[in-house]
Order: sequence, then structure tokens, then C-alpha cells
Amino acid sequence: MPLLKSWIDSANRPDGPFPLNNLPCGVFSQAEDEPRCGMAIGDFVLDVAGLEAEGLLSLGEPLLEAPYWNDVMEAGPAVWADLRAQVTALLRDGASKRFLVEDHLIPLTAVTLHLPFVVAEFTDFFSGRHHAEHVGPLPPNWLHMPLAYNGRASSVAVSGTPVRRPRGQIKGKDFDTPAFAPTRRFDFELELGAVVGTASDGPVTVAEAQAMIFGQVLLNDWSARDIQAWESHPLGPFQSKATATTISPWIVMQAALAPFHCAGQPNHVPVLPHLHEPQPSVIDITLAVALTAKDGSETVIARTSARELTWSAAQQLAHHSTSGCPMSVGDLLGSGTISGPDQDACGSLVERQDPTRSFLQDGDTVTLSGHARGDGYRIGFGLCQGQILPALPNPYAR
Ligand code: MN
Repeated sequence: MPLLKSWIDSANRPDGPFPLNNLPCGVFSQAEDEPRCGMAIGDFVLDVAGLEAEGLLSLGEPLLEAPYWNDVMEAGPAVWADLRAQVTALLRDGASKRFLVEDHLIPLTAVTLHLPFVVAEFTDFFSGRHHAEHVGPLPPNWLHMPLAYNGRASSVAVSGTPVRRPRGQIKGKDFDTPAFAPTRRFDFELELGAVVGTASDGPVTVAEAQAMIFGQVLLNDWSARDIQAWESHPLGPFQSKATATTISPWIVMQAALAPFHCAGQPNHVPVLPHLHEPQPSVIDITLAVALTAKDGSETVIARTSARELTWSAAQQLAHHSTSGCPMSVGDLLGSGTISGPDQDACGSLVERQDPTRSFLQDGDTVTLSGHARGDGYRIGFGLCQGQILPALPNPYAR
């Protein structure tokens, strides 16, 4: 599909993140105003809540004045498509209502962005094959199902939120005497997060799961590796990953990403029928990780692609439901760390063999970015960024 031309010039730049083809969903506020729903277009936020209030946009019932997208999500795929069609008609080159819509554009530089949806629950998968191979021998079950741990929704935060270095139990020299101390091996994980738009109660097929997914965000699953190493056997990660999960401020809707569906990394084994995909739905998204040190120097430390995933979000969601586990509006499913085969394509620090690359320092800022590349346009997410604050004094010390 070519670029959909808009009367907003900044939306037509071939390397801009927010062309008319994208229309990602966010929550914004200006000055003292209450946060409300908006969509990014070029250098602006389109105040879709304001358009709805003036009757320029109608989804059958008011869904956009809330400070989250969950109401729209719950309304289902027909409403998602209707919203995109109406906004596209208002913003297309030559749109007759242009002069009514112009009042509802606010420069992105003038707004504060908030968490775009209420996160119901957070599950983090392990669907990147190279990452799984870099951190240890590939477990035999990995080839047959998307593995995951149940994370915390309560610590999911929007890009720009600082991240406090956590304390936790760390194995000492012998197993009898662990220490309670700030992590010395604090790490990031480059991931996508699938946002579940509609609920289910009982097992769903991969095709049904695909239709339930509202969109995708960039996601950083902050990880304290020393705490993780000590706590994870036998039940998996717990406090090492509970401090924070940062997501991008924009949810890129599934419709904007559908042209970029592709085959991921092969499993090389037959997949059980309930996890078969009608068509491949890993997404071809170019990804990068930048590290900004306290002195302001920025280095791109990894470049990779979401094509490196083996299991798609639809397969993850279908697998999640197989037990009968109900899935909710606003569930967030992390892809797992996305890494290419090479050292400069690693989506976390723990898997790098470079001895000069230490774990994250206080004051470091980690920035994830990504875009799908169309014919004369890009589909971007905005940044997924967080700065490390030093650990607080031991709260248990007397
Ligand atoms: Mn993870």
C-alpha cells in the first residue's frame, strides 16, 4: 500500500513516524486539562476526543473522552475499522472538513503523553529464538510452544518515566549467605508488546486471537540479572522483573501493521495443530536500542528486527487461552527479547560477550525505537525511554 497523502504536510514525510497510514492511539494532556484520547499525525496529536464531542467523529456511543483506549478496544474490530476510516476521511488530502479539523491539532511538542490504556494483566513471553539461544541451551519445549512468565501490570509505565534501581536478594559466594543489595546487573530487554483488545473466556484459535489484538507497543522489560539468577529456579523470574516495564506512548493498531506481517524464524519442528497460523503474522519492524550516558553521549548499541521472533503475538495469545484462562481487554503480552544472531543485534546486555559492555549505570537512559518501512512511508511508535535512578537507601536498615 502506498502513502496515504494528508493535507497535514508533516504527515507526508517519507521518514516521519506518523503518516496517515499509521494513526496510532495515545493519551495526552495539555497544561491543566484532563488527559484524553488522541491519535498521532505528522508533528501533531489529533484530539479525537474533541472531534467526538463536536460530532465530527461518531462511534455510535461516546468512547473517546476517557483517559484510556480500553472503551474503544472493548467495542471490537468493527469499531476500530470505523474509527480509522472516519479519521482517514477527515485527514486525507482534499478533505472537505479540513477547516473544522484544524482546531483539533495540537503540536506534539506541546503535550504530555500518558499510559495509553489501563493494563489489565501483563504476561511476558520468550519468543525470540536468537535471544533464547544466547542465554542458554534452547529448552526442548521452546520449539513447541511460546514460553512465558506471568508479570505485573502494576509496574507498567509510559515512556519517560524514570526507573529506580531495585534492591533484592543476590546470591553470595556460597549459597547460604545471600545479600540484600541494589542490583549490580541491571539490564533492559528490547521487546514488542501486543495489546489485547477484546476479551475471551475459553480457548481461542490462532485466527481468533489475531482478531482480538488491538495493536502493538514497544516494550522494555527491565531485568535485574543477579536477582533473577538467584530467584528463578524452580518457578521463574519474580522480583527481578517486577520493578518496571516501560512501553511506548503510542499503540500502533493492527490494521497499520498488517501490511508488514511476515514469516519469523522457523522452529524446524512440526507445530501442534492448535498453534498453526493461517498465515504468518510476525511483523517486519526495524528496531534499535540507544544508550545515553550521564554525560549525554549517545550510542546505538543494538539494531535488529522483529522478524527474529519465532512465535507471533496471535500464537502467544492462543496458547495463553488453551487452559481456559480468560483473557481481558487491556492484557499486555510481551514478545520476549528480540535479538539477531550477532553481538551488535542483541536486545539485552546479558547475552553480549563484549567484556567492555557493562550493565546499566545510574543516570543511563535506554531508548528503544522502531518502525515498519512501507513504500514511501514509515510506521513508527514514538520512543520507549527510561532513565535509571540510583537505588534508595535500604528501607529495612535500622
Ligand atoms: Mn522479557
